[in-house]
Amino acid sequence: MTQTRHVDLLIIGSGPAGYSAGIYASRAMLNPVLVQGIEPGGQLTTTTEVENWPGDTEVQGPELMRRMETHARAVGCELVTDQIIRLALDERPFTAIGDSGTHYIARAIILATGARAKWLGLPSEDKFKGFGVSACATCDGFFFRGQDIIVVGGGNTAVEEALFLTKFASKVTLIHRRDALRAEKILQDRLFRNEKIEPVWFHTVEEIVGSENPLGVEGVKARNVKTGELRTIAAKGVFIAIGHDPANELIVDTLETHSGGYVVTKPHSTETSVPGIFAAGDISDHIYRQAVTSAGMGCMAALDAERFLSEH
Ligand code: FAD
Ligand code: NAP
Repeated sequence: MTQTRHVDLLIIGSGPAGYSAGIYASRAMLNPVLVQGIEPGGQLTTTTEVENWPGDTEVQGPELMRRMETHARAVGCELVTDQIIRLALDERPFTAIGDSGTHYIARAIILATGARAKWLGLPSEDKFKGFGVSACATCDGFFFRGQDIIVVGGGNTAVEEALFLTKFASKVTLIHRRDALRAEKILQDRLFRNEKIEPVWFHTVEEIVGSENPLGVEGVKARNVKTGELRTIAAKGVFIAIGHDPANELIVDTLETHSGGYVVTKPHSTETSVPGIFAAGDISDHIYRQAVTSAGMGCMAALDAERFLSEH
């Protein structure tokens, strides 16, 4: 049923950026409404230990996000279970249409829709998604107890996933297209010390191979980018961890973007190319992409939105 809600400030997204914006905007008496989306808590709900959130030597990602949610509620931020499917920015106030049918009419909007896992784009990857191919070790690692697993990628996510998967796997092969990892040194040290993990350098995955009936992964065909040689590496699970793309589908035709679709913001600000629309977190950050920087940008967006609303 269509319902119309008039709000001063709408926040889209419930990761560290969205919740921090919600906390600051609530304390500024802006009565924000925060739409949580299909992944309440955002990307950190898909990981285990977070070791670089200041104030916590170690905290589980889902627990940290539960605490942020509780904090946002406690200061009066209204959290709504909905997914925005369309954003009309050509008229003011702006209109955001929710999957629930609700039309949110907002004077200002903070976009904090974050980022989503990238895929290799292979037909065989699509075919085996959910049947041995995954982009979330914490969600699916448990299914591969005692099996060989492959992780593809060389960043923090790939290394953390490889380490996490050693809890279940008999062996983890990390396939990377270079011979140097992008991941933090502390994570690299842990990876190289782990006897269950074997790095395979200078290789790219060309195909995921498996059985038809039942559908299931048996391994990958990987090419050595230096010699051109193709080899098959056996595994029951393949975890793709090759980075993230900004979740920009709501604004790709309406806001200025750069570097593969990240929202452009003005220097030292969260203002986008449309006045009244602010962007915070991974949606507008192609460089740092951390929980703490996202939270910082959420704070900035709430302060920028407060100034905008008081001036207009
Ligand atoms: P996200 O966390 O991506 O949240 C986006 C939110 O937007 C979600 O709630 C989603 O439901 C919502 N949303 C999206 N589209 C819509 C829509 N159309 N309508 C409504 N809502 C929508 N960083 C660290 O600092 N330390 C770590 O240890 C760490 N570990 C990580 C481990 C993994 C496996 C991954 C993937 C990332 C990790 N990161 C870590 C990075 C960190 O998670 C991100 O930088 C951070 O979550 C970005 O926050 P965000 O608020 O911008 O967006
Ligand atoms: P990332 O840092 O962008 O790394 C992506 C990795 O995948 C790179 O090693 C890249 O190779 C490789 N890659 C990209 N496209 C590929 C392709 N088509 N085929 C094969 N390999 C490919 O992404 P991420 O690891 O997901 O991290 C994203 C952000 O979240 C980062 O800012 C990261 O710091 C943050 N994060 C932080 C933590 C933490 O703090 N503990 C944990 C997880 C994530 P090249 O190196 O050759 O480019």
